[in-house]
Amino acid sequence: MELVALSRMYLFNASGSPVVDVEALAEYCGELVGKTEVLHHGDFFEYGLRKVNQLDVGQVKDELAEALAGARVTNPTASKKGGEQPFVDYERRMLEKQPPRPTGVLYDGFELCLAYSSLLTHASIDAEDLVVVITNQLFGTLEGGDSRYHARVIVFGGPCIVSTTGLVEAPARPREHYLQRQLGLDRIVGKEDEQERWLRTDDPRTTEVLKGYLAQAIFFHLTGDPFCEEKGCRLFNAHWQEDLLFSQLESGRDFCERHQEIARSFTGARDG
Ligand SMILES: [Zn+2]
Repeated sequence: MELVALSRMYLFNASGSPVVDVEALAEYCGELVGKTEVLHHGDFFEYGLRKVNQLDVGQVKDELAEALAGARVTNPTASKKGGEQPFVDYERRMLEKQPPRPTGVLYDGFELCLAYSSLLTHASIDAEDLVVVITNQLFGTLEGGDSRYHARVIVFGGPCIVSTTGLVEAPARPREHYLQRQLGLDRIVGKEDEQERWLRTDDPRTTEVLKGYLAQAIFFHLTGDPFCEEKGCRLFNAHWQEDLLFSQLESGRDFCERHQEIARSFTGARDG
């Protein structure tokens, strides 16, 4: 297989979550990509804006705020976006804040990616480098034919964006959960066991689960294909919380045989 070279990987943690261990994540990525330098930083906006010339920083912030407001989805069933002035002003204020930023807004994942991407040049990051931004902000994508936004955990691009809120909100919980909630039983039935069956906000399992999404970003960058059909492989594209937890935590292995083989080629090792 012809592999794209990867000389450097950047990991930004803008989640503001105490359970995201960015050092452990960088170490995991480092093991996966061998000779590649893996750098980790805090907030992506703060990092990028710090590198902008003082005379231009106001304008760059204005443009970024405009792009972020334009990425806001104001109606989940339509492609209507929120580029209006109050949203621009809101995003401009948020740029001055430290993470975690408020999570009440849904963004179009690809447009959010484009807004982030405008900052890469200012941050002097090469287009060939792999950049992953971990954020607590929620984004979704319109699925082919469907005119409704679906929340996502990850969007692949330059940069790849991973959402910790998406981890909780995007993959569906077990069907019984929705049924019990409808019947008003969710506060009575099996609360203890339920804790384990899906991820919560600031769940202690978050870092371990994020490793799989970073692996997907690495496979996307190096092979063009981030996903696997096999449940239990970290590249499995889980639509259910239980499949997500199984693939990232419980299967007892990182990858299926095929992807293990490909992962070996990243480091140049013959056996692993
Ligand atoms: Zn696989």
